[in-house]
Amino acid sequence: MERTPELVTLEAAPRSAEGCVNAARPPAGKLVDAQGRNIHYLRVSLTDRCNFRCTYCSPAAHEPPDALLSRAELARLFRLFAALGVRRIRLTGGEPTLRKDVVEIVADAAATPGIEDVAITTNGHRLAELVEPLQAAGLGALNVSLDTLAPERLRGVSGQAARLDRILAGIDAAAGRFRSLKINTVVMPGVNEDEVAALVRYAWDRGALPRFIEQMPFGGGVPVPLSEVRRRLTEAGFTLAPDVFRGWGPARHMRGRDRDGREGLVGFIGAMTENFCEDCNRARIAADGGFQACLGGEDRVQLRDRMRAGDRDEALAEAVAGALGRKAPRHRMEEAGAGLVLLAMRGIGG
Ligand code: SF4
Repeated sequence: MERTPELVTLEAAPRSAEGCVNAARPPAGKLVDAQGRNIHYLRVSLTDRCNFRCTYCSPAAHEPPDALLSRAELARLFRLFAALGVRRIRLTGGEPTLRKDVVEIVADAAATPGIEDVAITTNGHRLAELVEPLQAAGLGALNVSLDTLAPERLRGVSGQAARLDRILAGIDAAAGRFRSLKINTVVMPGVNEDEVAALVRYAWDRGALPRFIEQMPFGGGVPVPLSEVRRRLTEAGFTLAPDVFRGWGPARHMRGRDRDGREGLVGFIGAMTENFCEDCNRARIAADGGFQACLGGEDRVQLRDRMRAGDRDEALAEAVAGALGRKAPRHRMEEAGAGLVLLAMRGIGG
């Protein structure tokens, strides 16, 4: 039986002249999807533009700048979703640091009452120069994409503009400054499987959490099953034991130890062979303002157009509730191409 999502009644929420929720005292809200899962984590794509061209990402036809959510629109959505129970916001892209107002947007998110944590996922290219302002703006957690430690290989995967030295300088500048620093690696067959051990050691040496991600069918290529990644780590002399640690996202963790006595956690995100949808806690807003209850779903609600058409927050909240009420138990990305049309990764930010 389809479950009507519980929706916070916004009537009680104090509001501004435009009828927007005044986040000064957001009511304790709860967003629950059709499966009864509590949605308290929102991923927001700030832009569909990127300075890299990663092979596993799907190029999106760029939206004109005014099609992207403005800083004010983003801040309004942060307030609305905080009032609806979201407690964590991750800023993604494309490459979010390409937005000139990225630091201000982080500050807006961090200043939104009810939001406990603001995170960003970046390719690291502008990180070295942004670490201090992002930290000062209230950024709590940082994920950096790093698929290889070989400069030439990086150019092969992410395009000629991708400079490894800049990414590594950014990671070194960020190490130890945030509540969480994670290094995300998409493992690609015949490309970087031979580097998994080196990437774990690299991350541990900087107090970062290495995570291996199965490729999803947004771009070219097939996934390397995480079981193969674990096999290679074991072959490289690591011992791995399941660990109960859970972050906000889908990663499952193992406690690892290498021959030299280094020890730490390793994260695994297996969308294709180790499904994690059962305890999904998130939803997304795409760069063009489309609300998407599931990454692997086709259902979207265009919040930007509704805001620009003058919709009040109740109407936006009802639309969000409707989308969550239609959210399927799990993704069907393994059916991509077989009738399932996935949205461009660059526009939804993973
Ligand atoms: S694929 Fe969809 S249902 Fe599964 S974890 Fe991601 S957002 Fe949730």
